[in-house]
Amino acid sequence: MTTTVAAYAAPAAKAPLERTTIERREVGEFDVLIDIKFAGICHSDIHQARDGWGEGIFPMVPGHEIAGIVAEVGSGVTKFQVGDRVGVGCMVDSCRECENCKAGLEQYCVGGNVGTYNALDKNGEPTYGGYSEKVVVDENYTVRIPDGLALDVAAPLLCAGITTYSPLKHWNAGPGKKVAVLGMGGLGHMGVKIAHALGAEVTVLSQSLRKKDDGLKLGADHYYATSDPKTFEELAGTFDIILSTVSAPLDFGAFLSLLRTDGALVNVGAPEEPISINLFSVIAGRKTLAGSGIGGIQETQEMLDFCAEHGLGAEIELISASEINDAYERVLNSDVRYRFVIDTATI
Ligand SMILES: [Zn+2]
Ligand SMILES: [Zn+2]
Repeated sequence: MTTTVAAYAAPAAKAPLERTTIERREVGEFDVLIDIKFAGICHSDIHQARDGWGEGIFPMVPGHEIAGIVAEVGSGVTKFQVGDRVGVGCMVDSCRECENCKAGLEQYCVGGNVGTYNALDKNGEPTYGGYSEKVVVDENYTVRIPDGLALDVAAPLLCAGITTYSPLKHWNAGPGKKVAVLGMGGLGHMGVKIAHALGAEVTVLSQSLRKKDDGLKLGADHYYATSDPKTFEELAGTFDIILSTVSAPLDFGAFLSLLRTDGALVNVGAPEEPISINLFSVIAGRKTLAGSGIGGIQETQEMLDFCAEHGLGAEIELISASEINDAYERVLNSDVRYRFVIDTATI
């Protein structure tokens, strides 16, 4: 028996989101039914609801930053009980057999993971995301939200948190390392908090100094405007890691020049158009131009535990579901500090 639940959906590409109902699958042997409490609004929700990446499945219920409470468990579930505080991020399944899945890198599943929304599950049914009252998810793709983290500020960690945590860990951000976070938005502000908590010396590189006070308060040691050409002279050869959270096209040569020998410029945001760089900007200094996408399930749990231990939640603006369309416009105008979170009780 499926369950009918209220949700906010884009009925077609570029159409405003509106209230509707969707069917959630029957709770299977290894499934948990989650009462969603909060859902973050990720920039990629807007891309997909507006079909910026093409091939969107409509109606679309976005939302892959989900925090809630377990309401029911299947007979085979061992990891969770009714009443547990849990989260769901960007994926709800993967093949579980390929080398990446076996290595805890489900996000890079060779056959592709199953997205939390705008995807087809193993039965060919469309997946619907977190802008809804409830969701049914396999226990292996559900994570525990530690008691120390409030559910509303934990929700954005499921995408923005893990997307920044995973590359910072992979490229060894920590004591003695100089990390630059490029962009001070939803991802960037979590990058600053996490890099600081990991013990790195953190610099924000932002277009302007408009958010400087926030950046320093969130844990940055330095804050520079990329619109000022002096920034590039002053910081040449400085960083071990530059984490780029921006999706606008960058002058990659200019940013690579800010790396030390063996430094890495890691992209978690991507411009829609292909880029062009002069390869001497990586050859000189044996530099790496890299990318990274979300994180595996076990690593997502590790990130949540780390954030709870260090008291790191997202900086959020809580909204009701009727404000989603306005919030989308404000995200596009960079007018949010730093993540909108939907109180799903208002759906
Ligand atoms: Zn996201
Ligand atoms: Zn796989």
